Amino acid sequence: MLIGCPKEIKPQEFRVGLTPDAARECVTNGHDVIVEGGAGLGAGFTDDDYTAAGASVVETAAEIFARADLVIKVKEPQKVERAQLRAGQILFTYLHLAPDPEQTADLLASGVTAIAYETVTDDRGGLPLLAPMSEVAGRLAPQVGAWALQKANGGRGVLMGGVPGVAPARVVVIGGGVVGTHAARIAAGMGADVTVLDRSLARLRYLDDVFSGQFRTGYASAAATLDLVTSADMVIGAVLIPGAAAPKLVRRADLSAMKPGAVLVDVAIDQGGCFETSHATTHHDPIYEVDGIVHYCVANMPGAVARSSTQALGNATLPYLIALANKGWKAACTEDPHLLAGLNTHAGHLTYFAVGKALGLDV
Ligand code: NAD
Repeated sequence: MLIGCPKEIKPQEFRVGLTPDAARECVTNGHDVIVEGGAGLGAGFTDDDYTAAGASVVETAAEIFARADLVIKVKEPQKVERAQLRAGQILFTYLHLAPDPEQTADLLASGVTAIAYETVTDDRGGLPLLAPMSEVAGRLAPQVGAWALQKANGGRGVLMGGVPGVAPARVVVIGGGVVGTHAARIAAGMGADVTVLDRSLARLRYLDDVFSGQFRTGYASAAATLDLVTSADMVIGAVLIPGAAAPKLVRRADLSAMKPGAVLVDVAIDQGGCFETSHATTHHDPIYEVDGIVHYCVANMPGAVARSSTQALGNATLPYLIALANKGWKAACTEDPHLLAGLNTHAGHLTYFAVGKALGLDV
């Protein structure tokens, strides 16, 4: 099979769909790989890295879309990319079709077989191609929060780990899923005093079993949440209610009860945010202040660490990519119901129920 990887063209996207290592594995499996020149530069991979891995570098994205049997990307195809997709071609990337009727219509019109990273499932009810980005965002959250806590950035001027004789920062993580667990681990590793709140007792039991001694757990009742938030130096919002907007767990009225210069890191901003005063920001202008509280609300946090994110995503997508390339999409999806769960469109048909429901289309 001919596997093609174009350069991402969505603004501020520096990741790439295929690492040189992944390209090498495709070649080892007997496939040909074409990569657009410069596609990997944002993630620190040169054209020579791809050539050394056995891939061919081509000049234009148009050549990739025209020739490749399978196109691998990171972000949903942009308008100009969608116009080049065609029936009989496989597209493997993040799509997020439910809130995007225009993209859905274009994919259906193209006839492409589109497999969405975000709807591929695993045996434990998880989303294995979404989890790596939650891991990245979670681990990044205390890092950016620590920066925002610095005086020059409007923060309280508190050091995460304290120093001998000086207390560490108090960090509260709301939501103890993938993002929250990774955020808590890193914050605790930086020496902060960390509490993770969740509404799932099963999740709290798991966290207590595995991380006892590193951070505390608490049940996320409204009263307990407010109590901890008002005494925190940093609050990391990491809740998710699947298929719904994030619940507002800290209200504007609560801010005046918080410590001046405390930091809110709203990782759940891509689902609308879990703090009432959150609005999405960018890597260029990531923080703002409301009532003396610093807010960090970047909706695509993994983009800040494009190289690590590309590698993490590549590790997760590679087995599925190889299965699709070796067996063809039909056999690969027939053998693996979790990969089949990723199939969103095929030959002009919408094949993913939740997208049809969200957009009022037949599935
Ligand atoms: P997850 O499903 O693994 O974890 C969510 C956790 O929130 C669950 O444990 C759940 O029990 C808990 N929860 C739900 N409602 C709660 C409440 N009211 N109080 C306390 N806990 C509650 O999800 P995840 O992968 O950790 O993702 C968390 C959020 O981070 C999502 O909104 C996701 O979209 C977002 N995210 C953002 C970025 C970014 O760049 N900003 C990157 C990755 C993920």
